[in-house]
Amino acid sequence: MKLFDLKGRVAIVTGGNGGIGLGMAKGLAQAGASIVVAGRDRAKNEAAVQSLEALGAAVIPVRVDVTDEAACRAMVETAVQRFGQIDILINNAGTNVRKQPQDYSLAEWHHVLDTNLTSAFMCCQAVYPALKRAGGGKIVNIGSMFSIFGGPFSAAYGASKGGMVQMTRSLATAWAPDRIQVNAVLPGWIDTELTRRGRQEIAGLHEKVLARTPAGRWGVPDDHAGIAVFLASAASDFVTGTAIPVDGGFSIQI
Ligand code: NDP
Repeated sequence: MKLFDLKGRVAIVTGGNGGIGLGMAKGLAQAGASIVVAGRDRAKNEAAVQSLEALGAAVIPVRVDVTDEAACRAMVETAVQRFGQIDILINNAGTNVRKQPQDYSLAEWHHVLDTNLTSAFMCCQAVYPALKRAGGGKIVNIGSMFSIFGGPFSAAYGASKGGMVQMTRSLATAWAPDRIQVNAVLPGWIDTELTRRGRQEIAGLHEKVLARTPAGRWGVPDDHAGIAVFLASAASDFVTGTAIPVDGGFSIQI
């Protein structure tokens, strides 16, 4: 369908080499977009490129640490050099350090904030001139249930993900005149490397999530393909500044 068609569009997906980022990249690739897979791990980047190429997409890997401003700018330059333009940025790279607030070092706090939030701001800044040149574009920022709820082990993560939603709203208002829509996605509990560690670290987490999620299951990365296509395509041209849960109903059940 034309509304959701991404042929001729170019998307950068940070953390696109696994988990939710790869799930989103697969959706974009199936809708016709070319993809820049941006992550630190060369082997994971290469494997993701192969799986996206198998869907018929033009794909390049870019090794980048999104906490490094110069590297974020270089990533954007590489994408423009290869594909001539950028239309879509998905700020998905993220991490977590699960500890009670009193046990957190300042270095751990900065690590989480830098990786999850400051990186997204830097990538938005770096990509803005290219989106403007293209006559508009789409930015999708990945939040979390911790954008709206708190938890004893999530002071830094929650601050970064709450900040992601507020930053999304501010960028959406600033760049609406440039026809750039900026939205956030709030995944529920999704089975990825990140949460596999969480399930080992937090006793009973697996069962708690199952009991609280109306859909009765953990999410999988592919559950994010559809929302990525919607927010990256003309179908969402009048949607901006929102934060859309993709959570099997986790956030609407008491
Ligand atoms: P994964 O651990 O599977 O993926 C994290 C991705 O981020 C990897 O591709 C990793 O690639 C990349 N990454 C991490 N740090 C950096 C860095 N400094 N520079 C570049 N890339 C980096 O986890 P998820 O797929 O679960 O997480 C993806 C996003 O979704 C995160 O923002 C997370 O907070 C969010 N989220 C996840 C939920 C879940 O239940 N799984 C729920 C809500 C939100 P590499 O190691 O190669 O750099």
